[in-house]
Amino acid sequence: MTKEEVLKQYYGYDSFRDGQEYLIDEILKGRDVLGIMPTGAGKSICYQVPALVMGHITLVISPLISLMKDQVSALNQMGVHAAYLNSSLTYNQYRKALELAKTGRYSIIYIAPERLLTEEFLDFAMQAPLDMVSIDEAHCVSQWGQDFRPSYLKIAEFVAKLPKRPVVSAFTATATKEVRDDIICMLGLSDPACTVTGFDRKNLYFEVRHPKDKYKDVVNYLIAHAGQSGVIYCATRKNVEEVCDRLLADGFRATRYHAGLSDRERLANQEAFTYDEAPIMVATNAFGMGIDKSNVRFVLHYNMPKNMESYYQEAGRAGRDGEKAECILLYGGQDVITNQFFIERDRENEELGEEELEVIRERDRERLKKMTFYCHTHDCLRHYILRYFGEYGPNYCGNCSNCLNEFEETDITAAAGNIIGCILTSGMRFGMTSILDALRGANTEKIRRFNLDENRYYGSCREYSLIMLRQIVNFLVLEDYLFITDDQYPILRIREKGLDWYEQFLNQSEQEKATDTQPAALKMKVPKEQKRDIPESRLKKTQKISNADSNIFEALRSLRMRLAREEHIPPYLIFSDKTLTSMALILPQDEAEMLTVPGVGQVKYKKYGEAFLEVCRKFR
Ligand code: ADP
Ligand code: ZN
Repeated sequence: MTKEEVLKQYYGYDSFRDGQEYLIDEILKGRDVLGIMPTGAGKSICYQVPALVMGHITLVISPLISLMKDQVSALNQMGVHAAYLNSSLTYNQYRKALELAKTGRYSIIYIAPERLLTEEFLDFAMQAPLDMVSIDEAHCVSQWGQDFRPSYLKIAEFVAKLPKRPVVSAFTATATKEVRDDIICMLGLSDPACTVTGFDRKNLYFEVRHPKDKYKDVVNYLIAHAGQSGVIYCATRKNVEEVCDRLLADGFRATRYHAGLSDRERLANQEAFTYDEAPIMVATNAFGMGIDKSNVRFVLHYNMPKNMESYYQEAGRAGRDGEKAECILLYGGQDVITNQFFIERDRENEELGEEELEVIRERDRERLKKMTFYCHTHDCLRHYILRYFGEYGPNYCGNCSNCLNEFEETDITAAAGNIIGCILTSGMRFGMTSILDALRGANTEKIRRFNLDENRYYGSCREYSLIMLRQIVNFLVLEDYLFITDDQYPILRIREKGLDWYEQFLNQSEQEKATDTQPAALKMKVPKEQKRDIPESRLKKTQKISNADSNIFEALRSLRMRLAREEHIPPYLIFSDKTLTSMALILPQDEAEMLTVPGVGQVKYKKYGEAFLEVCRKFR
């Protein structure tokens, strides 16, 4: 089968997402790969599809038992023979699985890293026709990360022992350079094809609220989003208990998760959430590693997390199916104090001396500050997040609370002309502050000392506020008109694009300047005065969509729920929300039409197709 056929037949999808195809092609050419993709981008398809195309055996090394179990169930559901080998199996089950593996029964085998070098497994691996070894959560090999697992260091040794070296592919959501280098080195990847897929998750809507009464805000949200599944993250166990108890008392189907509960209760609660019996999960950050529920429609943060890394990871658990989902942070001033307290008190790592601890604390304070800025910025929230992770993009996304509430388009042609003119005529040797001061006509000692008050652009932007002017300069930097040098005293300079533009700006005629079609027109989305509420239009739009198709969607969903109960599997393993939404829109009437629905493959059609068709027919 070709990779496209595998994707269609088993997964029911028509096309690959950004980044997937390249990695798959390189693997099929026999090259090692390193895929860096944010959670939900679709890493599993990058190794599962080539595994099925190659056709022998692929080993997938994964650190988390729950994740393995989930992936294997999903594969089995699609009609792929897969198994996992980890400590959740009894010894007899383990032996049995290995026996079956030897007969070539499984094309994909998930294995825990600590098993690799055991005699029994090696005995199997040395003789098995291994096409590929895939490493999920590959950052666990790096001591820079927080999830370092010593057993990952054995992977390279294991691969070296094999009689014929298989392709090695590694995947992670962690993008920093240290971790990336570590993965390549410690896993012994040879000249890997690397891709970094954008960290932007376009289907996620971001919002920060500053409610007076957080609990009331949550309740209102849950009422407005009844029937949806989501997570409410709290900073402390105590908060989890309080919020969860109140929600239960108020009649919501909520459950809880934190490190203070027994293993058994944690597992039971996690399952209740996974199976949509308790669609609302109230949890500390202990909840998440390893959950793979695709239809999480919202992630609310009852408290501000300690840094952007945590926030984006937790918020990112929403909308893994690619459908619209919301990430809302409820900020309160107390959150800063709580986090500061955690930082000053942190004694977690006893190997560290006082000096090193102070370095770490300083880093954590810095991160907390950036998290706090996120809660106060009037800029695009998505832009803020991406910039934090080292990516640049347009500073207006149209899908966050700031963009929707606080931006309007403004003509900045004249201001940009003055800014570039001022930088140019003052010899490109000043930093942002001096240039802004000069443009605004400030009378400071520095301005006088450098004769900036004699510059012809001195005071040319008096009517702009400092913040606004700074934003225009940032925009020009972002759009590659200007750049800021990396020096100890960063200097504003002009790029070629800026010079070209400036020339055009100077040359345009007075007549052109007066019209809207002036060749050098520059427009930028800028914040308008802050408004608290979401504009009407947004609310109306979402309501319209849900009303139109909600009956059919509900009917499909309750069928899915019934089947899931009968089979004792989580509903999303039958079909994802996204698949049901498409089904509701397409309303397939026969097998051929049903197979056009994204997420409906051959095997699933055989199992569930008729039942869902029956519902669809009723609605046409
Ligand atoms: P990750 O491991 O990167 O967090 P997953 O592999 O779990 O992400 O994929 C997330 C979701 O995206 C899954 O529901 C998966 O079926 C879906 N998905 C992945 N690739 C595609 C694709 N090419 N087309 C449609 N859906 C996809
Ligand atoms: Zn935005």
